[in-house]
Amino acid sequence: MGLLSSFSQWRETRYQNHISNMRDQGKCPDCQGRGYTVYPYNEFAYFNSFDCPSCQGSGSFSYWETLR
Ligand SMILES: [Zn+2]
Repeated sequence: MGLLSSFSQWRETRYQNHISNMRDQGKCPDCQGRGYTVYPYNEFAYFNSFDCPSCQGSGSFSYWETLR
């Protein structure tokens, strides 16, 4: 197994762990249940949060699962 494939395996495992944690809590994995996503380095301070597209701002895991 090469370095690259073990790295992507590690990333995949981390991602799967994150998904199952969020499923347990019923939260959208992309926004952690906040319902919006934030871009912290956006210089337009007033426009730096958006409804999360993955759950349409609901923050719920079931929405995320339906819409993915
Ligand atoms: Zn979301």
